[in-house]
Amino acid sequence: MRLVLLGPPGAGKGTQAAYIVEKFNIPHISTGDIFRKNVKEGTELGKKAKAYMDKGELVPDEVVVAIVEDRLKEDDCKEGFLLDGFPRTVTQAENLDIVLDKMNVAINKVININVNKDVLVERASGRRVCRNCGATYHIVFKPTKAENICDICGGEVYQRSDDAEATVSKRIEVYIQETQPLIKYYENKGSLVTINGEQDMDHVRKDIISALGE
Ligand code: ADP
Ligand code: AMP
Repeated sequence: MRLVLLGPPGAGKGTQAAYIVEKFNIPHISTGDIFRKNVKEGTELGKKAKAYMDKGELVPDEVVVAIVEDRLKEDDCKEGFLLDGFPRTVTQAENLDIVLDKMNVAINKVININVNKDVLVERASGRRVCRNCGATYHIVFKPTKAENICDICGGEVYQRSDDAEATVSKRIEVYIQETQPLIKYYENKGSLVTINGEQDMDHVRKDIISALGE
């Protein structure tokens, strides 16, 4: 299973990724998570990425592509993987194709989670994330059992700085400009399935699983 999760910020990619990787036993490769980890650890990459992330802009293609290429070469990706938040531009998608060609493999399905803008803002602004394990919550739709404490690992749950309303709006604009063209790109390749992401989490999950033929 070689999968891509496509969709605007706040659509539910990370939430659904957690279910999919468990079901298919494949690694979850989230470029956003990789950048956040590097920001937290204060690496050079983290410092570089943070400048773009804080503004709601995309990290340059060549930086992201190099990271994903290295990650896909790791052993745990041999039987499959789930890419979440990558590719995000046509250039990234074309480079991904080149990398996969070299590896003699291809993407099986691109799952496009479709959600309208007003819902996205509500979801992203209520999102909370565990600082320790990265688990995702929502103050209304998926609250933690104890306030600000992760149900899974007991870590501190916080609000991402790029989930401030102004930054979310900017990220949605960037999505429309840079990422939305990928819908046509993958439609033309015949690998796109579009899922109604405005349903509750369970229904979205069921639709994805059935689109994957399971
Ligand atoms: P993405 O990875 O696409 O940016 P997330 O998976 O982090 O999005 O989801 C954004 C926010 O919306 C999170 O707070 C999450 O708990 C919540 N969420 C995700 N899917 C749904 C859904 N189907 N219904 C309601 N809230 C959802
Ligand atoms: P995400 O966690 O997917 O919402 O990503 C958070 C931020 O990380 C984005 O707003 C970008 O600044 C950066 N980022 C993540 N993935 C990519 C990517 N594929 N290309 C460029 N920037 C990215």
